[in-house]
Amino acid sequence: CGIIARVGHDDAVGHLVTGLERLEYRGYDSAGLAIQNGSGLSVHKQAGEISAVKSEIQSAAPTGEVGIGHTRWSTHGPPTDENAHPHTSQSGDVAVVHNGVIENHRAIRERLVDAGHQFTSETDTEVVPHLIDHYRDEVADPEAAFRRAVDELEGSYAIAAMFEGEDAVYATRKGSPLVLGVGDEQYFLASDIPAFLEHTDRVVYLEDGDVVVLTPTSVAMTDTDGEPVSRDVETVEWD
Ligand code: GLU
Repeated sequence: CGIIARVGHDDAVGHLVTGLERLEYRGYDSAGLAIQNGSGLSVHKQAGEISAVKSEIQSAAPTGEVGIGHTRWSTHGPPTDENAHPHTSQSGDVAVVHNGVIENHRAIRERLVDAGHQFTSETDTEVVPHLIDHYRDEVADPEAAFRRAVDELEGSYAIAAMFEGEDAVYATRKGSPLVLGVGDEQYFLASDIPAFLEHTDRVVYLEDGDVVVLTPTSVAMTDTDGEPVSRDVETVEWD
């Protein structure tokens, strides 16, 4: 299972698809991606081989400079198209990919269902975009809504999220790997370095609780308390 995210100034779709292929060795049963295109978030996901998603993407031909992708190894809910990531909020304006397990998903889901949310998958993950969207009604700032949602999650996770109409990726991790790739006016996030190594060998290993916000021209990193942190950029040597 794996995550790939990319923000930059030129088309991200190719980077994301290649990233998914490079993560294949980790094992998966479904794959998908979300792209910020001109008219909103475009989501393509399927159970089965990456090649199936790839041909769906080739025929839909979405374009965009910012996107997130996922290879899923099911823990909650069988490998179906509906259970594949990215998962979205009910309005469709938050998209999330997640590796790991949200242990308190049942309690969160019940609360959100009581508040009127309708769920479309059997995954633990789907609570995350719904929860972010829920807090978005209270705090307009996307980062604040993201952080508030993440603060409630128990379990292990690497998470990347996008909001419709915003060229940014929000991400965090706890107990699941997530590495930042620092390119030239482009940034990547991935479960493992090979996913973006052909674009950059400069990496930052995120620590548990770090929240990172990427735009094509900026990286902002804060720790679990919301305090700004700077982490070393390392140059990797990889054969
Ligand atoms: N628990 C999530 C699911 O079953 C994520 C699994 C993964 O790490 O790929 O959808």
